Amino acid sequence: MEKIRMSTPVVEMDGDEMTRILWRMIKDELILPYVDLKSEYYDLGLENRNATDDRVTTESAEATKKYGVAVKCATITPNAARVKEYNLKEMYKSPNGTIRAILDGTVFRTPIVVKGIEPVVKCWKKPITIARHAYGDVYKSVEMKVPCAGKAELVFTDENGNETRELIHNFKGAGVLQGQHNLCGSIESFARSCFNYALDLKQSLWFATKDTISKKYDHTFKDIFADIYEAEYKEKFEAQGIEYFYTLIDDAVARVMKSEGGFIWACKNYDGDVFSDMISSAFGSLAMMTSVLVSPSGVYEYEAAHGTVQRHFYKHLKGEETSTNSVATIFAWTGALRKRGELDNIPELCGFADRLESATIKTIEEGKMTKDLALITEIENPVALNSLDFIKAIRQTYDNM
Ligand code: NAP
Ligand code: MG
Repeated sequence: MEKIRMSTPVVEMDGDEMTRILWRMIKDELILPYVDLKSEYYDLGLENRNATDDRVTTESAEATKKYGVAVKCATITPNAARVKEYNLKEMYKSPNGTIRAILDGTVFRTPIVVKGIEPVVKCWKKPITIARHAYGDVYKSVEMKVPCAGKAELVFTDENGNETRELIHNFKGAGVLQGQHNLCGSIESFARSCFNYALDLKQSLWFATKDTISKKYDHTFKDIFADIYEAEYKEKFEAQGIEYFYTLIDDAVARVMKSEGGFIWACKNYDGDVFSDMISSAFGSLAMMTSVLVSPSGVYEYEAAHGTVQRHFYKHLKGEETSTNSVATIFAWTGALRKRGELDNIPELCGFADRLESATIKTIEEGKMTKDLALITEIENPVALNSLDFIKAIRQTYDNM
């Protein structure tokens, strides 16, 4: 069979530890036999980040801007232990943070749903995608401990030196203080990324804040979303039969729990942090969660939501067998190749991505899976395969389809 041709490269960002091992297996068994892969390769493995003083991370993000689509393997975010383990010149920043800062994007996380791995919330029939705003609020806040009685004020000084003041509190004794901010530009980017992604997925978009209590801060989020929706997206949404829906965060939580899924839930930074872990664990497993960074200019970076699975890697190094779930990393590849196919008008490439995803799901539904899933599945007598045999089983399913 002739391999599927590509016209524009995907940016390939290799990574670390167990996911780097899976990366090679996925390429060898599931991609290269079928696709004449065009990729621009960047090695984001920690050793090469160290060798290049982390320039490789910036270069890979710049390449993503140029070509529009990237696929990324999980990478180590160095801490003190990693600095020692890899003899690093410095404690480099999180690659995801660096890439996100350059692409200015929103991260969308979606669980991969298979029969036999049932969500704990019984009414959820379709995946729920979380869109998390990745800038500001409590993540960029400044804090103070108030030691004694005194007056706390918010002070804004404009470029001409004019001050605006707002009393926070007249402290009668000790307490705590926090100053948060966000930027209208960042909220606008967040809104556009969410509206674009909803159109892409043909799914409705929900957004929620606490604007009844936070009448200026959260209300600004609500207003920016509403204005951009009215001006730029309303007609497109109506044409696709999807809706944009705003409600209060506590009402949203109650509705999510009673919904059947199949929508995108846009969250402020903190809400997204909390609810993405709730959604992924309620759907079954972090190893079954995909993640895509979408920039407001329409650049896409696909990855798995989990890390480098360090514990499994150390077993692998000792020559022991591993059963590491490669599904989210496979879906990172299919996501990137399908997007490449859409942008370059190569339906065969989109078809390949669809088939490989179906083969992956079918393999699991036929009872062949990795250990993490075998432990939680309702399928009777599941077969727990090792890392490579699971990928080979998918290849066999694909070839027989
Ligand atoms: P992790 O790699 O997500 O793994 C945590 C645990 O979750 C594993 O030990 C394993 O449990 C289970 N698990 C996660 N993915 C799995 C998979 N595909 N198949 C089977 N089990 C899976 O998190 P971590 O061990 O805390 O972090 C390791 C490294 O990853 C860190 O250096 C961190 O900086 C990095 N990290 C990178 C990213 C990213 O690049 N996007 C995200 C998060 C973390 P059992 O051991 O019980 O089997
Ligand atoms: Mg978190």
